[in-house]
Amino acid sequence: MARAADLPSDPPGAEPAVRIGHGPDGAAAASDGLPAWCPRCGEHMDRRPAFGRSRPVCVACGLVHFETTATAAVAVVAHGRRVLLVRRAISPYRGQWSFPGGFQEHGEELAETAVRETREEAGLDVDVVRALFVGLTRDDPRKLVNVVVFLARPRGDQLDVDARIAAADDASDVRFFDLEAVPLELAFENSRRVLDHLRREFPVGPIG
Ligand SMILES: [Zn+2]
Repeated sequence: MARAADLPSDPPGAEPAVRIGHGPDGAAAASDGLPAWCPRCGEHMDRRPAFGRSRPVCVACGLVHFETTATAAVAVVAHGRRVLLVRRAISPYRGQWSFPGGFQEHGEELAETAVRETREEAGLDVDVVRALFVGLTRDDPRKLVNVVVFLARPRGDQLDVDARIAAADDASDVRFFDLEAVPLELAFENSRRVLDHLRREFPVGPIG
């Protein structure tokens, strides 16, 4: 569904939903979908200075397209000193591990995004404890993404959590890993930032 932060993908063989480009000023490495044609008059769009920076502008009628940054939520599901990771079944970073997460659906609370994505990818219902931090992810080849990282815990009985997880949706595997023993093949720079944050805030003992 709305996948993300550890983020979404296109169907195999499909063209990417977004175009990546560098403006003349070097800014905006990724676009939220630079329109190939002006939605107002049908002429093509080109990057030009507009309102203080490089933006897609219609060469004929001057319509300015304001690019936006996507928003995603990631769940750090903690169980003792272990964290829940999912193995990505999709590109980008297929086969690598990441925290459950995905793009915010329109009108959805971000904490709900974290809960929904964890249910979809890991089959586990969780409760959000609090937000840990916010960061901008620059290494998703499809778009720039604001990622809100939430601390969460498994809902209900804490004894059988390993038996209740099951990979689905965008994930091919799911496991709890001790914070000191997470796989090296981590998708997204953001995952490493999350780990650094956790080791700093929780140097010993249970997470959260
Ligand atoms: Zn136009």
